[in-house]
Amino acid sequence: MPKPFDRLALGEGGYTVEFSNRGGKRKNNPTIVNLERREVHCGIEGCGNTTKNQDSVCRSCKKKKEKLKHTVDWVGRIIPEDKTREECLTWAPAHSEITEVLVRWMKEVPEKRQSVMDAFINDLLDNIVGRIPDATTLQKDYESGSGDPQSVVNMAKEVVDRHFPRGMTDEVDWLYEGKYKELKKIPVRIVAILLAIAFASEESNRGDLYFWKNKNQEGRSKYASAFMSAAYYLLRRYGATETQAKMSVRH
Ligand SMILES: [Zn+2]
Repeated sequence: MPKPFDRLALGEGGYTVEFSNRGGKRKNNPTIVNLERREVHCGIEGCGNTTKNQDSVCRSCKKKKEKLKHTVDWVGRIIPEDKTREECLTWAPAHSEITEVLVRWMKEVPEKRQSVMDAFINDLLDNIVGRIPDATTLQKDYESGSGDPQSVVNMAKEVVDRHFPRGMTDEVDWLYEGKYKELKKIPVRIVAILLAIAFASEESNRGDLYFWKNKNQEGRSKYASAFMSAAYYLLRRYGATETQAKMSVRH
């Protein structure tokens, strides 16, 4: 069992946002975990074979089209005050849904808020792209003490405070039907930090840039990760419909 991580990022107006490794939908690990082709245990759960393959998936698992999964799924979770963490373990809205809530807020007073959102997204990219380890590495560093996911929380807080300063009282409602529909009058700062952590989680769960940067081989990175989340915002910001934006950033 991976060591759980559930850390408060922001609590305001009856809502709490946490950064957690218990999202429960582990993504494929796109990094080359066995770059040196050592003899290692096959990375597919339940398989006892060894292999020298770079993705650590043995021949018989490859035949079954198995892919190596990350050990954990990092998410930003929102908890309303009348619920517990365990009830909201996987309340981690997609970055596109969170963006939509902020885009609607922005479009109410575009002449003032577009520049806020642009600067916010820009700041997020500067702080996230290539700077957050892949999900498995982030977990490994956490368990060995050589890294701390708290740094992701700190980064998200700092970026949000720069663009949505403390004391800001704007509130928004959730846009979509479904399990989040009871989220009403959410402080905009809560939505902003949820987006910041969603971007960081995307980078960790799907990205490989940090991995290759560490090996001075940035050019080998294949996954745009947090860029995809930002692309969704840009499409909506410059007039694409919600459907067009969703189609454009499909994984
Ligand atoms: Zn295997």
